[in-house]
Amino acid sequence: MSAPAVGPLDGAREQLADAVKLLGYDQGTYDLLATPRRAITVSVPLRRDDGSVELLTGHRVQHNFSRGPAKGGVRFSPDVDLDEVRALAMWMTWKCALVDVPYGGAKGGVRIDPHRYSTAELERVTRRYTSEISPLLGPDRDIPAPDIGTDEQTMAWMMDTVSVAQGHTVLGAVTGKPVSLGGSLGRASATSRGVVHNILAALEYLGMEAQQTTAAVQGFGKVGRGTARFLAESGVGLLAASDQHGAVYAPGGLDVAALESHVDTSGTVVGFAGAEPIDGAALLELDVDVLVPAAVEGVLRADNAPRVRARVIVEGANGPTTPDADRVLTDAGCMVVPDILANAGGVIVSYFEWVQANQAYWWSEAEVEARLAERMRRAWHDVRTHAAAHGITLRTAATCLAVERVAQAHQTRGLYP
Ligand code: NAD
Repeated sequence: MSAPAVGPLDGAREQLADAVKLLGYDQGTYDLLATPRRAITVSVPLRRDDGSVELLTGHRVQHNFSRGPAKGGVRFSPDVDLDEVRALAMWMTWKCALVDVPYGGAKGGVRIDPHRYSTAELERVTRRYTSEISPLLGPDRDIPAPDIGTDEQTMAWMMDTVSVAQGHTVLGAVTGKPVSLGGSLGRASATSRGVVHNILAALEYLGMEAQQTTAAVQGFGKVGRGTARFLAESGVGLLAASDQHGAVYAPGGLDVAALESHVDTSGTVVGFAGAEPIDGAALLELDVDVLVPAAVEGVLRADNAPRVRARVIVEGANGPTTPDADRVLTDAGCMVVPDILANAGGVIVSYFEWVQANQAYWWSEAEVEARLAERMRRAWHDVRTHAAAHGITLRTAATCLAVERVAQAHQTRGLYP
């Protein structure tokens, strides 16, 4: 009999349980941190372009706000369910605490395949979803951002919907907005830049030269595509890239600029003339130094982890590695740079965007990037030294540091009443 599937919420709770045990906290603290403070499920009726009405479902989960307002992305995907959103909201809490931005974690999503809908329909979905969850939103309460299947246009619609309801423009209501609407320079590329900061830090720590290393990136969306570009700029040879339609592989290295042009015209990496097609799952098992899963959760599992050959895995996606796979990879000597550290560049620059919008004063791109690099360096250093001092993995170290900060904030505030 095969083992039951482990979903992202099981994985997130297992990681939390490990940290709580190491930190010596009691069951009450675990229960409090394993459970979202608020979760709302809403119906999102959509009038299709042909006049018919379709009923969609959306969620918004605020996992914790002990350290500040809740913060987290909104996902449009057919796979969205409440447990997935709960897990993603929990990881956001740890991520914000780890990189010391004054937020708790949240996440939202609508169960929809955005590729099957027109732009006008997606605008109506976004506005109705925003309106339904609006009692939870606001710059001091909960600040959404883009995630899978959403982008800066989605954020512009969300910001406008909140603003119309309030009767004035609320620039701090969301982050990841277009720069023309109070977005921050450097936000669109921030997650990918942060991923590459971590890759370079890991390579340096392992004594590996960037120019002599190779990589594969799973997912060619907002995170994966920028990661591929910045890796190429850093001299790392990108051998393979994939998206939901398939993967391409060039043993001598992909021409990333040409691949980006191909994706701009065709919408997929598939069919890129400068590479051979391979199976999407095979990309994870290629003989490369660095593997960057930058697509969805649960792609590295107990069944395929033993075949992973990368020396370093840097998690661009949230939750790409199940706890079972984590153990297999660690035993095999693979360094896993965990999601809450690896992809934290996005929330760091979202924080910068929120600060700039609330002050109505914007920084230069160079300033944003310098501050991002400094925070990523500090977080990497904190996690690596904590892991070394306690003989634990980077993931356990990162989770412990974050959970401790959240628990301390909670304890210092006290329990009301
Ligand atoms: P996106 O929608 O822009 O891109 C997702 C990409 O993954 C697409 O190229 C899609 O085709 C591909 N994909 C989907 N399923 C796949 C599969 N099975 N195999 C290979 N490719 C597949 O989303 P994104 O914003 O790039 O987010 C990707 C991941 O990064 C998610 O886990 C998200 O939560 C995480 N993340 C995003 C941000 C951000 O700022 N956007 C920040 C932190 C973490």
